[in-house]
Amino acid sequence: MRKRLDAKTYSEVVEALLKAAGSYQMVRPVSTSFDVEGWRLAANALRLLEGEGRPDERGANPYFVSLYRTLADTLASGAGFLFGQEGREHTAQVDQERRQWREWRFRWGAEDQQRLAEAKDTMRQVGEPGVPLPALFCSPTMELGVDISALNAVYLRNMPPTPANYAQRSGRAGRSGQAALVVAYCAAQGPHDQYYFERPEAMVSGIVRPPAIELANRDLVRAHLHAIWLAESGKELAPDIPHVLNLSDQTLPIQQEITQAFAEPDLKTRAGAAMKRVLDSIGAELTQEAALWVPDREAFAAATADAAELEFSNAFDRWRQLYQGARDQLKEANRKSELPGLSANERKTAKDQQAQANEQLALLERGTSSSGSDFYTYRYLATEGFLPGYNFPRLPLYAYVPSIGAGPGGRAAYLQRARFLAIAEFGPRSLIYHEGRAFRVYRAKLPPGVRTEDRGKLSTATLFICDACGAAHQQDEPERCHACGSTMAATHPIRNVLRIDNVETLPAERITANDEERQHQGFDIQTVFAWPLRDGAFDVARALASDADGPVLSIDYARCAKS
Ligand SMILES: [Zn+2]
Repeated sequence: MRKRLDAKTYSEVVEALLKAAGSYQMVRPVSTSFDVEGWRLAANALRLLEGEGRPDERGANPYFVSLYRTLADTLASGAGFLFGQEGREHTAQVDQERRQWREWRFRWGAEDQQRLAEAKDTMRQVGEPGVPLPALFCSPTMELGVDISALNAVYLRNMPPTPANYAQRSGRAGRSGQAALVVAYCAAQGPHDQYYFERPEAMVSGIVRPPAIELANRDLVRAHLHAIWLAESGKELAPDIPHVLNLSDQTLPIQQEITQAFAEPDLKTRAGAAMKRVLDSIGAELTQEAALWVPDREAFAAATADAAELEFSNAFDRWRQLYQGARDQLKEANRKSELPGLSANERKTAKDQQAQANEQLALLERGTSSSGSDFYTYRYLATEGFLPGYNFPRLPLYAYVPSIGAGPGGRAAYLQRARFLAIAEFGPRSLIYHEGRAFRVYRAKLPPGVRTEDRGKLSTATLFICDACGAAHQQDEPERCHACGSTMAATHPIRNVLRIDNVETLPAERITANDEERQHQGFDIQTVFAWPLRDGAFDVARALASDADGPVLSIDYARCAKS
């Protein structure tokens, strides 16, 4: 016809054609944000065929060519991430190698992809996928040293402790001048979070103070003095604890070649002199008022050098306890598995227990120098407070999580938590999350001697809490509070108190947020305190806060916690 249609006819023709196509299910009506009805091409009415270039011989649209090619390649390579968001952990509980893979997967630069291709076989063996990782859940391990320059969003699940931490964590995103989104969540129940919710500028553009260490802290100074003593002995320790302790002896003493080095006659004198020099160098801090514990530096250095060998050995008590516990469990499971006439179920239980005991032994015996192993000798000595250590909790609680088949997170591990967190997180029946799975705490590993003679009852303690100030007392029916002097005559005791250091878990079913909330409500956590006793006297300091009108607040505080 070659006749131009006027606008009205054009609309009618197009509408009639679309209606006809609609009756054959080739297009479908959809509502639009304009005041006309829209039509959408039905996906199943489309056939894609390889073309032979455009009839007008112009080049193909490079955007669509690349889009379809990328999609096709992605689908061919498994494309897990197109159908679900994968998120992984990047924490100290994940071993170094796996953390590295996750950084590469997350960053996904050309160099990263090449490294991933090289590590493909190792990764497949341990079940770590090689596809891009869209979300990384990080603990402060991510705070330092990891460069992910393309990062454009950081979500902080709590307000960081200080403006310095905030700068570090939020600074992960938007480097080299790019814009980035940083969201910090403030928990409704957290006093710290709420404080900064009211005053965001104090965090976001707050003062970054240089890190401070209380140099008059007795435990801290002692840990450094121990390090001097160990260095002075010239004894280099093996990375794994089985080469430090003698496992062929029931009591697991320190290996003889090590005790021989410690027994060297002038070690104490040499170490004592070196310790004294360090104490003198911080002499200005060790005032009579701040450091009651060191009235005489020379005597303190000598006493620390004298006691160092015993303390070194005592630092391994927790490892000994975990190791003996696992060995006993293995023996018991072996004995049970050999009993005649076991049911299939009983046989399986015995087998599981054998496997778990073996896993625990393997974890305890493994000590690589990477930060991945909690039982690397020097790191272990620092967590136990014998040596200094600043980047992990001191005297943490341990929870054992068993292996649950292949796949990421399948491996057994000992999880560590600082005590103040563990009291809530490692409580009886608590849920613990590790590498995308949930575990339930089902038993405590009891230290030897906590069971009474007949092995039935636990020997528990009784606590008395002062009604006036909240101080705790372990001795029987105290008359007066050691902290505030109030009478304790009518105080009700808290009976059956048991100290738990290490727990074991079992895999838990997937649970909902409601279940978890119920779990949290299950415990009433009460914070109490007791002043530390040093050489027969309470180690308490007093401070007074005042303003122009005079004193406003008097504070009593302990310089360091009891351990
Ligand atoms: Zn009191």
